[in-house]
Amino acid sequence: MRKYHSYEELLKNNRDWVKTKKANDPGFFKRLSEGQKPPYLILGCADSRIPIDTFMQVEPGEFFVHRNIANLISVTDMNFLSVLEYAVNYLNVEHIIICGHTHCGGIAASYKSQCEGLVRNWTTPIKDLIADHKKMLNQIPSMEARLNKISELNVIAQAKNLFKISAIRNKIKSGHRYPKIHGWLLNLEDGHIQIVRLPMKTWKKTGIIPANYCHEVPSPCKIYSEHRISTHTHRPLRSRTTRPKLAPVK
Ligand SMILES: [Zn+2]
Repeated sequence: MRKYHSYEELLKNNRDWVKTKKANDPGFFKRLSEGQKPPYLILGCADSRIPIDTFMQVEPGEFFVHRNIANLISVTDMNFLSVLEYAVNYLNVEHIIICGHTHCGGIAASYKSQCEGLVRNWTTPIKDLIADHKKMLNQIPSMEARLNKISELNVIAQAKNLFKISAIRNKIKSGHRYPKIHGWLLNLEDGHIQIVRLPMKTWKKTGIIPANYCHEVPSPCKIYSEHRISTHTHRPLRSRTTRPKLAPVK
């Protein structure tokens, strides 16, 4: 059974970490207190297993982060819109990453209709997404692969939502330096980040993305794993066993 830190241990760990940090880098906290200029805005799931900084080995000050259940973007969510506007217009982040993950409780509960209370309201867009892809999802035999596919589709849907927000559209249309939008899926089974390909060309053609948006990733941004998944297939992320066909989506 997993052992968790006690409350007292948390505070002791903090003191130990500060001591080590100061010993290795005496100017570290002075630099932190002087301000922030993070190049990345990350939208992630609130899940306790996804402390995104830990998976990337980055220092404090590199990621501006917003997290909620199932990494959703709502164009009426004042909390996220404030974070986004500040990140885009004041911090001038270079990249916005929507990071979903496999084995997401919010995705699973939505699929199995187990959400209650406010979470049920919040996850409504996932239910809609599942309904939109019902036929394709029903062809995936494994429940695990089916849920992971929904996580992947959810990342794409949220990236699409991001392009609808005025703070992003205005920034892109201005022609000044605007952030590049990326989709990631963190595979909890092995810790690797998988790039979710966003259908940028299609979105451009249909006007979802402003025509002048150029998705070139500068060379310093090489922190992705080489694992890739396709948005056009329904292959499971990991197909280790053949499992019985599941009941169709209701
Ligand atoms: Zn999650």
